[in-house]
Amino acid sequence: MEKLLANQVALITGASSGIGYGVAKALADAGAAVVLNYHSHAEPDEKLADEIEKAGGSAIAIHADVSNPAQVANLFEASRARFGGIDIVVANAGLQKDSAFADMTLDDWQLVLSTNLTGQFLTCQAAVKEFRRRGPTTVSKALGKIICMSSVHEVIPWAGHVNYAASKGGIQMFMKSLAQEVAPERIRVNSIAPGAIRTRINQDAWDSQAALDKLLQLIPYRRVGAVEDIGKAAVWLASDESDYVVGTTLFVDGGMTLYPGFSNNG
Ligand code: NAD
Repeated sequence: MEKLLANQVALITGASSGIGYGVAKALADAGAAVVLNYHSHAEPDEKLADEIEKAGGSAIAIHADVSNPAQVANLFEASRARFGGIDIVVANAGLQKDSAFADMTLDDWQLVLSTNLTGQFLTCQAAVKEFRRRGPTTVSKALGKIICMSSVHEVIPWAGHVNYAASKGGIQMFMKSLAQEVAPERIRVNSIAPGAIRTRINQDAWDSQAALDKLLQLIPYRRVGAVEDIGKAAVWLASDESDYVVGTTLFVDGGMTLYPGFSNNG
């Protein structure tokens, strides 16, 4: 049986760990050739690229800081040079720099905004230009697909993390406005908003029993998410199976956005 993303090329930013790594693996398993972008650690992506190639797929690892316009341009150029075009872009790279509001430095504010929000602006702008340059194909009904990695914090306020919550709140309107603008060209833009997924970004929240018990109180489904949960959602959103899904945030959060504090009458 033909795989869902056969003959398509997917570029994933921040693919050397956590959700980006899991999404890259899932897209490759679904038949896509993958461009694995890394920032500081090449080894995990080089190893994953090697594994994918040995299993009969195609993959390349490319360095870029998503907040740097020249490096993002280079990322897309190098991808084009290797694969000829790109069908799917997952703007995933992101980070946290947490502190109480009055103690937050301007550097910590700017680092989070420039990575999480400007990084997605630069990645998505390069994606739209690349889809237009390449033009329609027979491998997908859409001219191109973009998935923005958001967070439940695009809607849930988060004390002690105003920079992060502001960046993800920004992604909500960024994604919807971009989706509205490019949908007539059959470019589909959507977001995935993960809840608590077990990665290094939130290790403090699950690596002791006490922290885990506290976290599970916020998740009606009573389990912490795995990167595979996000990978499966990304495969669907990137495929023609979701061809009529445009400008939507898909919450993959075990019910975290269901106001669990009200489950016992508030
Ligand atoms: P992670 O720290 O494992 O992954 C983040 C990745 O982004 C890393 O590979 C890192 O190298 C990369 N990165 C950081 N700055 C970069 C830059 N300037 N250029 C290129 N790459 C850069 O954490 P994760 O949990 O996998 O996070 C991935 C995305 O998922 C982030 O956007 C995060 O906000 C979002 N998210 C995660 C969770 C969760 O529970 N883990 C929940 C909601 C949203």
